[in-house]
Amino acid sequence: MTPLPCPCGSKLPFDTCCGPYLSGARFAPTPEALMRSRYVAFFNNDLDYLKKTWHPETFPEDLGSEEPSNWVGLDILAAEEDGEEGEVEFKARLIFQNKLEVLHEISYFDKIDGAWLYHSGDFENDGKPEKISKSAVCPCGSGKQFGNCHFER
Ligand SMILES: [Zn+2]
Ligand SMILES: [Zn+2]
Repeated sequence: MTPLPCPCGSKLPFDTCCGPYLSGARFAPTPEALMRSRYVAFFNNDLDYLKKTWHPETFPEDLGSEEPSNWVGLDILAAEEDGEEGEVEFKARLIFQNKLEVLHEISYFDKIDGAWLYHSGDFENDGKPEKISKSAVCPCGSGKQFGNCHFER
């Protein structure tokens, strides 16, 4: 059996990528690793992990009150860390109401007691959600037609 690829897009098996961070076995060693693992937590709707890795100052009390999104991809554009502070620029793709949306954000992280935490982010505007044709290849990477994959009737 081939191991499950990590949803964060690293092309590594989940068990040697974000898996140990989500299970709590290890702390994510860099802001980028934390960002990737939090993307997987959004992907899996793992609210406990999102809470655990969110700065208490900015944690949204209503987390999880909205319908979870269909996350279909993550690209890390830039990542840096300087002491106890870090920054990651990324684009995450999601499907909502049969449209493809791109969330382009610069996230800010703080390291507290050895663990990186998400603090906040600035959004970049990358235009409107785009309708996906049913006959197009699904943006999730399955190789199937959108109409037979993430399409919602
Ligand atoms: Zn991963
Ligand atoms: Zn799909």
